[in-house]
Parts: sequence; C-alpha cells; structure tokens
Amino acid sequence: MKGTNEMEIRFDSRSENEGFARVAVASFMTQLNPTVEEVADVKTAVSEAVTNAIIHGYDGRRTGKVSIRCRIHENIFTVEVSDTGKGIRNVAEAMQPMFTTKPEQERSGMGFAFMEAFMDSVEVESEQGKGTCVKMTRAVGKGREIWTTQSL
Ligand code: ATP
Ligand code: MG
Repeated sequence: MKGTNEMEIRFDSRSENEGFARVAVASFMTQLNPTVEEVADVKTAVSEAVTNAIIHGYDGRRTGKVSIRCRIHENIFTVEVSDTGKGIRNVAEAMQPMFTTKPEQERSGMGFAFMEAFMDSVEVESEQGKGTCVKMTRAVGKGREIWTTQSL
C-alpha cells in the first residue's frame, strides 16, 4: 500500500468490548496480508492493553472511554491504546515482568511483558490523574515478499 492509512475507534470501558477491540484491529490489519501468527500476536498485545485500560485505568468502572488508533505505513503497523483514567505512577516499575498493583485479583503482572514479547516496540506515556497511552509497533511481513501487485 502506498502512503498511510489510519483508523480510530472509541468505546466504553466494559470487558464486553475487549473481543470487539481485538477483532476490529485484526480486521484493519488484514490489508497488510499478515500471517496468522502476526495477527495473533497483535491481537494478544491489543487485548492486554485494552484490559489494562479497563481494569487499571478505570478500576473496572464502566463510565470511561477507551480509544484505539491504528496506522499502517508501508509494512509497519502501529496501534495506540489510550484511556483517560488514573494513570501510572511509575511506568518503568509497572513494565517490569510480574509487577502488579492488583495481586488480590490474581493478576500476574505479565501484560506489559507480553506486549513487549509480541510487538517490535512498546512505548508508554502516562500521567497520574490524566490517563495512559500505550503505543506499539510491529513490522508485518518481515522477510516476505508481500508487495506483489499492490507495489507495482
Ligand atoms: P496481568 O496483565 O498479568 O493480568 P497486570 O495487569 O497487573 O497483570 P501488567 O499488564 O503488566 O500487569 O500491568 C502492570 C501494572 O501497570 C498494573 O498492575 C497497573 O498497576 C499498571 N497499569 C497498566 N496499565 C495501566 C493503565 N492503563 N492505567 C493505569 N495503570 C496501569
Ligand atoms: Mg495487564
């Protein structure tokens, strides 16, 4: 695909919307002709970020909104998941594997570790009382000739 292509969705912070968010992102991503594994990886990362926005950002309250912005530029897929919830006090600490502020809910503190494992880059911007934005990128079709007819 030449140039860039973007989409944005915004939905209520309800766990019922997690599946919707995952599928919406995966469906937008199909134009990159991804492998099943690439789609699965991005879906996992998006699920983790959306779940975090709902259960941590808004502490499970259903009144907040979660936004997802996706961008395709050449073979780079970028997805940003943001909330306007409580924010993260110490991002470096929160991103450490097995760090969780909700051990009583049997959280394992592995969400950010999964995002980092499944995506090429993960950047977190957060301000206490303002909200959090998790920006992730993934090169799709690395080492694969995917720009056949479209690139002519
Ligand atoms: P798991 O994802 O394994 O169920 P977890 O959600 O606690 O457990 P991570 O996803 O790695 O683990 O997140 C680590 C911590 O970062 C959380 O416990 C929470 O304190 C904080 N956090 C993550 N995302 C947000 C967010 N959107 N808003 C506020 N705090 C967040
Ligand atoms: Mg999590």
